Amino acid sequence: MTIKMNVKLSWFSKQLAKLEKEGLLINLREIQSPIAAITKINGKNVINLCSNNYLGLADHPELKKAVKAGVDKFGVGPAAVRTIAGTTSLHLLLEEKLKSFKKVEAVITYQSGFCANLAVIPAIANEEDYIFSDELNHASIIDGCRLSRAQVVRYKHLDTDDLEQKLKNVEKQKNENTKQIIISDGVFSMDGDITPLPKLSKLADKYGAILVVDDAHGEGVLGKNGRGIVDHFKLHGKVDIEIGTMSKAFGVVGGMASGKKVIIDWLRQRSRPFLFSSAMTIPDVSACIKAIEILKKSDLLVKKLWHNTNYLRSGLKKLGFDTGKSQTPIIPVILGDAKTTKDFSKNLFDEGIFAMAITYPTVPMGRARIRLMNSAAHEKKHLDSALHAFEKVGKKLKVI
Ligand code: PMP
Repeated sequence: MTIKMNVKLSWFSKQLAKLEKEGLLINLREIQSPIAAITKINGKNVINLCSNNYLGLADHPELKKAVKAGVDKFGVGPAAVRTIAGTTSLHLLLEEKLKSFKKVEAVITYQSGFCANLAVIPAIANEEDYIFSDELNHASIIDGCRLSRAQVVRYKHLDTDDLEQKLKNVEKQKNENTKQIIISDGVFSMDGDITPLPKLSKLADKYGAILVVDDAHGEGVLGKNGRGIVDHFKLHGKVDIEIGTMSKAFGVVGGMASGKKVIIDWLRQRSRPFLFSSAMTIPDVSACIKAIEILKKSDLLVKKLWHNTNYLRSGLKKLGFDTGKSQTPIIPVILGDAKTTKDFSKNLFDEGIFAMAITYPTVPMGRARIRLMNSAAHEKKHLDSALHAFEKVGKKLKVI
């Protein structure tokens, strides 16, 4: 019995040992305070440049108050999926508020952004269909595509000529039932670059394709008052489905799909996590409603986020760092070598700065980087301390 058990488990221990040997084993850091400009991590207060807390809402007093009020009125969990007994008045209110904020025909919410992609893609595509997917799309899009069983055609990152060529090739093969879907991240999470959505929309029109954009890192960041990438490019009504998350700029957790009513109506009937996984919890829904109210009322947080982004990025460039093609608050500091990048991150932590090293296979070999995400919660003094630490460590490790 014991021998059999050992054999059964040996695969796992071998894999873990392999990861450790290759330096790829993930070690969790313990966060011991709220997520804010200064966060306590592994016993140390550090300037946090790693969270997706773009607007500083993760520890916002108004969100915390809204959570307490929501829990007092509705309890904690819905204890059911949306389609059985999990749709409270708060869930409906959240969808109404999102609909008006994003200026769309309809919205459906999910438990997370990851879940939204797993929900939407298999509900709109099947084995007769083709999905054209940017080669650097997020893991949840890749998994959603796999679940759909559609043919996945990967096009070169941001390359609309390559996409058009691939659309043309498929035109010759498709039949009258074939749906074509173009899907892209809005803002790419490793480089902070933005998809050419106006061009994607033109191609979608020309080839009769359904256009889907995952705006996880554009929600609360791009567009008027943070309405997202569609608002940024003034493409209202031209994007069929916008996938979103409330786990980043909104500071909470939750996902959504917004867009054409007929598609959202279909998702309410057929997207599996909506039918088979319990609804968002009351604290999450309550906090998300408040986050939208704050954004609708004022663009101060969004403006401060961008002010901080420009300050940090130009400071890093002045120091001689390569910040790649970033156009958003995701700022990669590309160092190339994986070991140097890991040392850099460790040295930054010693200097009181929390900024993670991202290495292969998450980014291509030789393109290792420190990925920074600043927030509206940072003050100038925090960014100055970060720049000072980058200069000190950069000189120490001879990368500038
Ligand atoms: N899509 C993209 C493009 C993302 O970057 C992420 C978060 N890493 C997700 C989806 C998943 O969002 P969530 O954390 O809400 O599951």
